[in-house]
Amino acid sequence: MKQKSRSILLIYTGGTIGMVNDPVTGLLKPLDFDHILNQIPELYQFDCRIDTLTFDPVVDSSEIQPDFWLRLGSMIEEYYNVYDGFVILHGTDTMAYTASALSFLLQDLQKPVILTGSQLPIGTLRTDGKENLISSIEIAASVDEHGQPMVPEVSIYFEYKLFRGNRTTKFSAETFNAFVSPNYPLLAETGVHIHYNRNAVRKTDPTKKLRLITNLDTRVMFLKIFPGLFSQIIGEITRIPSLKAIIIETYGTGNAPTSPDFLSLLKNFVDNEGIILNISQCRAGSVDMDQYETGHKLKEVGVIGGKDMTYEAALTKLMFILGLDISTNEKKNMLQKSICGEMCE
Ligand code: ASP
Repeated sequence: MKQKSRSILLIYTGGTIGMVNDPVTGLLKPLDFDHILNQIPELYQFDCRIDTLTFDPVVDSSEIQPDFWLRLGSMIEEYYNVYDGFVILHGTDTMAYTASALSFLLQDLQKPVILTGSQLPIGTLRTDGKENLISSIEIAASVDEHGQPMVPEVSIYFEYKLFRGNRTTKFSAETFNAFVSPNYPLLAETGVHIHYNRNAVRKTDPTKKLRLITNLDTRVMFLKIFPGLFSQIIGEITRIPSLKAIIIETYGTGNAPTSPDFLSLLKNFVDNEGIILNISQCRAGSVDMDQYETGHKLKEVGVIGGKDMTYEAALTKLMFILGLDISTNEKKNMLQKSICGEMCE
């Protein structure tokens, strides 16, 4: 029998792709992996070995918490030397959070880790799940002219497009085109052929070994700025004793009201070793606190600019950096640098 040249581990975590209608409630709920495999006999035609693993329990991705990311990271580490690539079936609701988290947890990753799922269950007639899964496996198994993986990073494949995981955000709850990457080009696009955007794919250093991060500090929250935001509420939030960092979602290029009350509450938080990261409410473009006075005032009180990061990348990067045993200043420096392609340099 001919030996298959590449090997892929397919990890099923849940999500619409494997769901069926509960006959009693009529609601969608996750089913087991065999259900998926039975719907895609094409998987057996691949010229690569495909092994499968199921998370216990399989979940709707809205249930996912950071300990799930840590389990997924250690699963990949455990099988890292056994397989050439990994494809993770995951619900779309929090797929961009998981992809972003994995990009920080799997330091010096040299192999493809592709997350995919679908908007319609695999058993339905017009499902998008089949194409998503089949192309993800094909990409995960692809190598260049030197036998190296084409996309050795954490990515999301959806509706003919491969995105950098930590640049992606869920954009549509309804169309098959569920994800966008507003600030970074596609890594690949599939049609009759697969077109790789080789300049956009992260360069790896083959001398480095995978290093798994096993700690995330979740004492962080979002604060969306809006007209009418009440200072007293900000005062109460910034005095929460366990809170280590706040991601403020600001207007445009990182602007917010300049009332002295508001600014002094933020300054107090920063003076007490708190970290405030500035992310724009606009999905495309970058925070630049040197452009308007309304942004510059934030910089003056010690707010840090998150450049063009998605909110999923900002959140998971903060959890990763807060979990490191380094000084607050070192954490702030790290936040402003690209660690694994999540922000512009
Ligand atoms: N609620 C589902 C999930 O995220 C939606 C999906 O898979 O598309 O698990």
